Amino acid sequence: MKKLLLLIILEICLVKLSFAQNQYQKFQVSEDIEIIKINDNAYVHVSYAEVSGWGRVASNGLIYLNNGEAALFDTPMTDSLTKDLMDWISSKLKAKVTLFVPNHWHRDCIGGLAYLNSLRIESYANEITGEIAKSKNLPIPAHGFRDSLALSLGDKKIFCEFLGAAHALDNIVIWLPSEKILFAGCMAKEVGSKNLGNTADADLTAYPETIKKVLNKYRNAEIVIPGHGEFGGIEILKHTLELSSKK
Ligand SMILES: [Zn+2]
Repeated sequence: MKKLLLLIILEICLVKLSFAQNQYQKFQVSEDIEIIKINDNAYVHVSYAEVSGWGRVASNGLIYLNNGEAALFDTPMTDSLTKDLMDWISSKLKAKVTLFVPNHWHRDCIGGLAYLNSLRIESYANEITGEIAKSKNLPIPAHGFRDSLALSLGDKKIFCEFLGAAHALDNIVIWLPSEKILFAGCMAKEVGSKNLGNTADADLTAYPETIKKVLNKYRNAEIVIPGHGEFGGIEILKHTLELSSKK
């Protein structure tokens, strides 16, 4: 009887533990910005903005911290939302954003780049992102790279890689080896999604090939973050591969 009781208690503890791992701490920055803490070094920023034809859209970005320094991946859609986010990072995380990398040229990635440029934050992007942004009169990232770029945040590494067109012609992925986090952005679709979403600027032929490359290269990712919706594990890429392979 005692053994059984012990077993039951142990079971309850285990269930609680696994449940706790799914419960990430959240911070409300404003009505339109929410932060989800993945761990002490990585926070997802979720911001809401109106997009014509789509309504109120939630978009994901990432904040990576190391010793009071921060890297920002994607901005919210506007300068004023980006300012709110930046103010929160400095006041609540006590970190200084020193570099920025957008996933591609859309508003949900570089919508606040003009504000970041005004703060003289170093920005790095796929050179195709710079070219498209220039042609559309959008704010331009300072530095371009061709296939991949390794950046440092203090003693930690950040890998930016362009593996081909998908959601956009210039979409890249970000790999944080110390956290095993892949910020895949809008090319990756959350598990609940039934289609590829906004494909107005997509390359639907290249899409599955690009996702396959990402999947093969980052199979050991523990967390995969899509551009919109819930993050998860590698199943997000597998789901996206299925969606993009449908003819
Ligand atoms: Zn997007």
